[in-house]
Amino acid sequence: MVAQGPVPFTWRRATCLGCGEVVRRARDEWIEMTGTRSGSWLMATETEAERSFADPLPVPPGEEVFQLGAVHRRCLRQAYVRLRAQQVVLPDSLPVVFVDEPPANESFPRLHLPPRRGECPFCSRNYVSMSEEDIYPLWLIRELQSRGAGTIRDGRWVARISLPTIPVCIDCNNTWMSTMEQDVKPQLISLFDNVTLVDRFNQVRLATWATKIALLLDAAGPNPLIPRGFGHDLRIRKQPHRGIWVWMATYSDVADVLPVHPWLILPPAGGDSDEVHAVCITFSVFRVAFQVLIPLVGGGPAELETFGNSVVQIWPPGPDDIDWPLPYFFDRESIVAFSRRIYDNRESVPLHVALTASVRQAPQ
Ligand SMILES: [Zn+2]
Ligand SMILES: [Zn+2]
Repeated sequence: MVAQGPVPFTWRRATCLGCGEVVRRARDEWIEMTGTRSGSWLMATETEAERSFADPLPVPPGEEVFQLGAVHRRCLRQAYVRLRAQQVVLPDSLPVVFVDEPPANESFPRLHLPPRRGECPFCSRNYVSMSEEDIYPLWLIRELQSRGAGTIRDGRWVARISLPTIPVCIDCNNTWMSTMEQDVKPQLISLFDNVTLVDRFNQVRLATWATKIALLLDAAGPNPLIPRGFGHDLRIRKQPHRGIWVWMATYSDVADVLPVHPWLILPPAGGDSDEVHAVCITFSVFRVAFQVLIPLVGGGPAELETFGNSVVQIWPPGPDDIDWPLPYFFDRESIVAFSRRIYDNRESVPLHVALTASVRQAPQ
């Protein structure tokens, strides 16, 4: 089905067609609804990545289709019931949508493939302009610089932090992505400076942000592997996909504050497939290391080394608060062993790891 409206929906806040409460475009999980005023034909847009749900075509003769508004994901059923029963008071003027049967050779976006360069990693709204964005947000770079951080480039320490960039559409960038940055900022800064507890709510926030960064690092790299479906799902749900795993560790090394270590889990040797089984991206931001495991085939990791309880899972989130900092911290050398702790089905190489105990004291 091809639905064409005169303009893409550009709302910030809407009234939920289900519960009547406010829907915040940049923060909530929402679904847009299209249909006839009588409720005789309805469509829910992007209930899953690239998947919409519609009543059978054709639209009942003599009726026009409109952009009706938005609903919270949790209110979709209620909205259907209310729209069918004409219990929703709709505005007098609504944008008209033209609905066609799909052409026979319709090609669907390929969600199992990585985003192509120049394509938004989070949506396929190719009518929205793109802009080249920093993967690490500016607020983070300012925080690092105010703490005297730098990076190692060609074996030399430099005070300047070089920033990888990636094209992202301005709609994703200005709505849910910037909200995600504002939401995670106080929590990340607190982890930089404080002895603290990380509750389940903040574990989810950190894991969601870490997933966003990992997807961008992969997409910006020379050989992207992570399918676009994960990015689309992150935009729609504003949480990591349920197949993803995220861990957190303590990191400290002022000489390299933003190391990134990708690691590929390959099929067992001698198998008949050469498909990569999973992509594991370990990256640190100043005092915090994140590890994001994105499986490309089913299954999860076996029991993993936790380096003396110094690696904790944050997605799926656990029931317990995390006592921060963790007992030992990684530096730019030991982080390599952490980044390779998931067996890649190749010859195993023992890595010697020396960790330093974290100092647990309140800041001066
Ligand atoms: Zn609602
Ligand atoms: Zn986008």
